[in-house]
Amino acid sequence: MSEAILIMDPEKNICAANKKALEEFPSFNTVNSFDCVCHQFIFGTKQECKNCPVTTAIKTGKSCMGIINPKENEIWRVTADPVFKDQQLDFIIKKIETVKDLSDIEKKLSSLNSELRRSNHDLELFAYAVSHDLREPLRMVASYLQLIDMENGDKFDAESKEFMSIAFDGAKRMNDLLDGLLQYSRVGTNGKLPIECDCNDIVKDAQNNLMLQIEETNTAITTENLPGTINVDKSQLIQLFSNLISNSIKYAKPDTSPEIKVSCVEDTDNWCFCVSDNGMGIEAQYYDRIFQVFQRLHDRTSIQGYGLGLSICKRIVERHSGRIWVESDNNEGSKFFFNLPKKATINGNQD
Ligand code: ADP
Repeated sequence: MSEAILIMDPEKNICAANKKALEEFPSFNTVNSFDCVCHQFIFGTKQECKNCPVTTAIKTGKSCMGIINPKENEIWRVTADPVFKDQQLDFIIKKIETVKDLSDIEKKLSSLNSELRRSNHDLELFAYAVSHDLREPLRMVASYLQLIDMENGDKFDAESKEFMSIAFDGAKRMNDLLDGLLQYSRVGTNGKLPIECDCNDIVKDAQNNLMLQIEETNTAITTENLPGTINVDKSQLIQLFSNLISNSIKYAKPDTSPEIKVSCVEDTDNWCFCVSDNGMGIEAQYYDRIFQVFQRLHDRTSIQGYGLGLSICKRIVERHSGRIWVESDNNEGSKFFFNLPKKATINGNQD
């Protein structure tokens, strides 16, 4: 066989290997036993490989494929297939193939990237068209509801009045949702080129946007180590900080004044920002979900919202080639982190 094949138990100990694997990995002679985990067998190290497909296959119970770059100019395609017995993971088959033609992989990656960019752009245009075009018929529904209420409102009994109020509320909610969707799609279509700005000013502008909310809730905001110069789309960064600060106020613990800290640390290539609060916190199982469109953890009656704020934050950060994530000790507040590369790179369209 041209591929190296290993059979492993669920603890990743090698149980069997084919001839190709024994020839290919000389460290096998030094460990000299099947009683070792796969990274020892392959690399002779104790350190587990980054993004190991076997680990993912064990965790998820599904086949997993990964690309490993063991040394310069060599790429392996590694697949891990879990095999079950009586619904219990019995063993894993790991297959390692050396990819001969690297240019082929590069070509495939580049074509997949352009396809992804194109479909993202199509999606943005679609969201824009939907949110824009639905406004007109909605406005008509709202106007006629108002007309009916003005003409006949005094003849309505209590039940009809309640129905009217539900219909008004529905039209308003739909209008707010379309506003949010329009804002979401505009992150990609209406963005500006990055300019040099002081991050302290950006956070001050965000605070000014939320002045009323901050005063009403007695919120204390502190900043630490914010960079004096960053290259970003300024209005989008103001929106990003406004959304995060506003959420920290909205999701405060009852009877506790919100305390928010906006800080930054840097490494050679990135700024890593953190907006932390003393609010109600988030359970770890929801860390990814809250960044998806229309996903909320609170119902509308307890805390107002449409589940768009964080998805807009995510789009802004990704447009700046960064990443956003959350960490939280449930009940001990949340920390929203995002990093931005120091060298400004903007994805997608801009004016
Ligand atoms: P919205 O606030 O309109 O619901 P978001 O997208 O801004 O939409 O937030 C999604 C969900 O994430 C919220 O419904 C809330 O449950 C949770 N969340 C966001 N920020 C915080 C925070 N600082 N503390 C606790 N929960 C939060």
